[in-house]
Amino acid sequence: MNGTSRIVVLPGDGIGPEIVAAARDLLDALGQFSYDERLMGGCSIDEHGTALTDEVLDACRNADAVLLGAVGGPKWDTTDPGAPRPEQGLLGLRKGMGLYANLRPVRPSPALVGASPLREERIAGTDLLVVRELTGGIYFGDSGREGDVAHDVCEYSVEEVDRIARTAFDAARRRAEGSGRKPKVTSVDKANVLETSRLWREVVGRVAAEYGDVELEHLLVDNAAMQLVSRPADFDVVLAENLFGDILSDEAAMLTGSLGMLPSASLGAAGAPGLFEPVHGSAPDIAGKGLANPLATFLSAAMMLRHGLGRGGDADRVEAAVDAVLERGLRTADLASEGGDQVGTAEMTAAVLEELDG
Ligand code: NAD
Repeated sequence: MNGTSRIVVLPGDGIGPEIVAAARDLLDALGQFSYDERLMGGCSIDEHGTALTDEVLDACRNADAVLLGAVGGPKWDTTDPGAPRPEQGLLGLRKGMGLYANLRPVRPSPALVGASPLREERIAGTDLLVVRELTGGIYFGDSGREGDVAHDVCEYSVEEVDRIARTAFDAARRRAEGSGRKPKVTSVDKANVLETSRLWREVVGRVAAEYGDVELEHLLVDNAAMQLVSRPADFDVVLAENLFGDILSDEAAMLTGSLGMLPSASLGAAGAPGLFEPVHGSAPDIAGKGLANPLATFLSAAMMLRHGLGRGGDADRVEAAVDAVLERGLRTADLASEGGDQVGTAEMTAAVLEELDG
């Protein structure tokens, strides 16, 4: 990518502004970026009466990438179906930016394998990426109720499967670059029962034929759920439709045991801006106290550098710096049960910057 990358920054609510400010410091240490900071979520409801204004959506569409903190909090919790809610901003961004692919890497930092609910020998070496289809399937099909009967329709088109499969195969290739290992995609479905899954399997197989260097395996979703906990280190890229991906990505996330460490990316068509954000929420219980763990946001910024801005080398540097500070024993409060020195957002950020310089 030529010139200065233009990043729309959406700090959001709760700890969002703290972790996003830390991420900007991190990015500034890596190069020159231009930032356009905007309101989205509860803060936008307070100011404009809606979680996402058209103007902010336009700015996001025209950026090179969007970096988001988190949104929501008790102030905006409501049971009134007519009242605006912070999550509507997230859905509006997904839809408005055409983000159909959600990427969640699960790579427990070597220093944190003890936090996993799995035994160390099982989790060691796990480094996988869940690619979830985000805008199709049962969540977006026709739904309704007639008397005692309800229905939710699951529908997928060839085009929808084809584009998400390509995202997964491209990501597998990118992850293996320079490693000498053969990339692999595990496609998850329920082809023994569902017609949408049979279409899914067919289309994924056709796309795979164009990626001769990438191995493809098919797993039924029930089997995939078991294998993820019994042999997580054997997975590379896991490709799944919306509902299966929703469940499996949370299962995979728990393999690390550390919510404050998990990044994510949502991507659309090639060349269009992606949205990068930590998996955790706005943590209102610790907001404004300087205690938030900024590492998931740093790792989200690394995903932005790799998948959004074509700066894989910088992404590697960020990930190595995060591993190094954890190796040194630094821990924010959420990781403190792992032992080590307890630090706040500022000290953790300073330590990561120091590692980048070193
Ligand atoms: P949460 O992820 O905000 O917090 C769960 C627990 O983890 C809390 O104890 C919190 O202090 C801790 N935690 C989370 N991130 C942390 C971090 N970076 N550093 C240290 N500790 C951290 O989930 P919740 O409490 O269920 O939700 C709080 C608000 O966040 C709600 O309004 C919810 O709707 C919203 N939420 C937003 C997103 C998003 O913006 N993508 C995602 C999930 C929840």
